[in-house]
Amino acid sequence: MSDTIFDKIINREIPADIVYEDDIALAFKDINPQAPVHLLIIPKRQIATVNDISKDDREIVGHLYWVAGEIARKEGFAEEGFRTVMNCNEFGGQTVYHIHVHLLAGKPLGWPPY
Ligand code: IMP
Repeated sequence: MSDTIFDKIINREIPADIVYEDDIALAFKDINPQAPVHLLIIPKRQIATVNDISKDDREIVGHLYWVAGEIARKEGFAEEGFRTVMNCNEFGGQTVYHIHVHLLAGKPLGWPPY
């Protein structure tokens, strides 16, 4: 599998505004924010799309959502609420083929998202 721009962020080859890191995951600010808070939470392991999540990856993917909650609690927007989104392939609007949870917060968000 080829590297994406997110692998370059993991490897510190390009800069990012990193807000959380552990052995499994990294979270950083989206370069083109769609809400007052717009973070991307990614696994360090290369997984291209939701379709490529294997049974063995379940703990990693669960961890990404745990990180989302941790950030929300620590940053103080857990109670007012937020959105997590994982886009998949063309119709889902995916542009970077390394799975990522978008964490959007800081204002009431519209639904449905089109
Ligand atoms: P997707 O469209 O769901 O795949 O989301 C990819 C996201 O990555 C978009 O919201 C982009 O703004 C964001 N993005 C692309 N390149 C960078 C970068 O270098 N740093 C931070 N965010 C990025």
